[in-house]
Amino acid sequence: MDIRRRPPKPPVNSNGPYPSFHKDPSPSSDDAHRRRTAIAPPKASDALPLPLYLTNAVFFTLFFSVAYYLLHRWRDKIRYNTPLHVVTITELGAIIALIASFIYLLGFFGIDFVQSFISRASGDSWDLADTTDADRNFLINDDHRLVTCSPPPPIVSVAKLPNSEPIVNESLPEEDEEIVKSVIGGVIPSYSLESRLGDCKRAASIRREALQRITGRSIEGLPLDGFDYESILGQCCEMPVGYVQIPVGIAGPLLLDGCEYSVPMATTEGCLVASTNRGCKAMYVSGGATSTVLKDGMTRAPVVRFASARRAAELKFFLENPENFDTLAVVFNRSSRFARLQNVKCTIAGKNAYVRFSCSTGDAMGMNMVSKGVQNVLEFLTDDFPDMDVIGISGNFCSDKKPAAVNWIEGRGKSVVCEAVIRGEIVNKVLKTSVAALVELNMLKNLTGSAIAGSLGGFNAHASNIVSAVFIATGQDPAQNVESSQCITMMEAINDGKDIHISVTMPSIEVGTVGGGTQLASQSACLNLLGVKGASTEAPGMNARRLATIVAGAVLAGELSLMSAIAAGQLVRSHMKYNRSSRDISGATTATTTT
Ligand code: ADP
Repeated sequence: MDIRRRPPKPPVNSNGPYPSFHKDPSPSSDDAHRRRTAIAPPKASDALPLPLYLTNAVFFTLFFSVAYYLLHRWRDKIRYNTPLHVVTITELGAIIALIASFIYLLGFFGIDFVQSFISRASGDSWDLADTTDADRNFLINDDHRLVTCSPPPPIVSVAKLPNSEPIVNESLPEEDEEIVKSVIGGVIPSYSLESRLGDCKRAASIRREALQRITGRSIEGLPLDGFDYESILGQCCEMPVGYVQIPVGIAGPLLLDGCEYSVPMATTEGCLVASTNRGCKAMYVSGGATSTVLKDGMTRAPVVRFASARRAAELKFFLENPENFDTLAVVFNRSSRFARLQNVKCTIAGKNAYVRFSCSTGDAMGMNMVSKGVQNVLEFLTDDFPDMDVIGISGNFCSDKKPAAVNWIEGRGKSVVCEAVIRGEIVNKVLKTSVAALVELNMLKNLTGSAIAGSLGGFNAHASNIVSAVFIATGQDPAQNVESSQCITMMEAINDGKDIHISVTMPSIEVGTVGGGTQLASQSACLNLLGVKGASTEAPGMNARRLATIVAGAVLAGELSLMSAIAAGQLVRSHMKYNRSSRDISGATTATTTT
């Protein structure tokens, strides 16, 4: 949820919105002009099949000469008492030429209306009129920032399904059929369907139909019915055409902190739920797991710039001075009754300061909340630091949705540690391996292997598998799986090597039980199953923290099970190898005895 800052529109040539159009500097650009006009909407200067400078010259000459002629005729009519409304064919032609050249010249002096009038008359779409080429060339990148890019190449052809009939939904009401055609023709922008129709389901249905006809490809398997499209409007997804179905499996019961949880996992990866379920069983029969929330704070770090590194350092000293904290907290906490500033850390890179604000956010995951608080503080700081230039509300030191050591070391969201002791006999019977094999594998794979791979928070077997599945089921932001899956799995033989102590430490689990996708019916049902739906009635933040511990508990189960499978696989392989040797030996012995 990075804040978007829309860049200013690109500078427009003094000629108006059609910069290279009327005042083309050189005749040598004629080819380019022709190429442009071949793919661009028709414009006024296309009126004559001449180079641009000649077209301009013709219309200028026409306008002034015709105006001169008509003024002369007017004077003669007054002199000889001829009625003004009696016009000859020549005069009529002159009047038409005057109007035509006048319209052309309006375009020359940058009157928008003229060009839009011409475009519309040529069957152009409405949305082209209110969106400039420069606007269309801005795209939103993966960090929610608008970036410029070169204009897309003209679409030459649309790939059609081989041997497919044109995709037309016969059952579409006539009224909707007209709207589909308008969307296809570009007369109605697809994104405006919801606001125009006031019916989100109908909008999705029309958009879907238009999409299929434009692309010539069917999306029949993507369901439309059975979803509340009103619930995502302005919150979760734009321009919907249906919804993807992801099966939800249940792992559990997960016995965690004395409570039993049935953990919903949305996944299409076979074995994942079964494997996690097996881990839950091993934990359950060994007495369950225990979790501790070490920290709970969402972060946002704007980047600000000064004229000197000295000034940037002064800001750092100001923000990190304990005497200023209370004032900053009062300003920050105005953003929400749930936002409570915890600390401010400032890192300098030359003249630039990266200020990492951390705050508790109740049961919300908290990105909106913390961003609003940061905005308040930045406005407040302009009194003492008027020379501070806010470059971006997010300077990536936060760090959201990117692998980063700062989250691994400092934590982000909920920092959780979860542990369990699994008895040796359970390791043998349920997990089909041994304590020694698990400990050795953990050391060589999760710790040493990840170290030599240069891993950043990836000291585990597959934490992201469980995190992603629970995130999707419970309406979390799946992109935050990047940092939420940071995890170190530790295994240690205890009780003279009979039992195993296993733990997962996850410093940045970013979850919420209010806001975003948690409100949607299916996701809300999964939260309800876990008993953490919505805002906590006990204390703000309790539900979100409990959800974070459940995520960590499920990861513990997943780690236990997969590591056991791998350890057992190694044993099976070495066992088979050993047997084969035995067979060989026995064969040799037999052969020896038979010869
Ligand atoms: P986020 O900050 O995770 O993006 P939203 O801004 O979408 O979350 O949702 C948080 C909203 O929910 C805020 O408006 C907040 O006032 C409201 N809210 C209600 N109850 C709670 C609660 N217990 N904890 C946090 N926020 C809550």
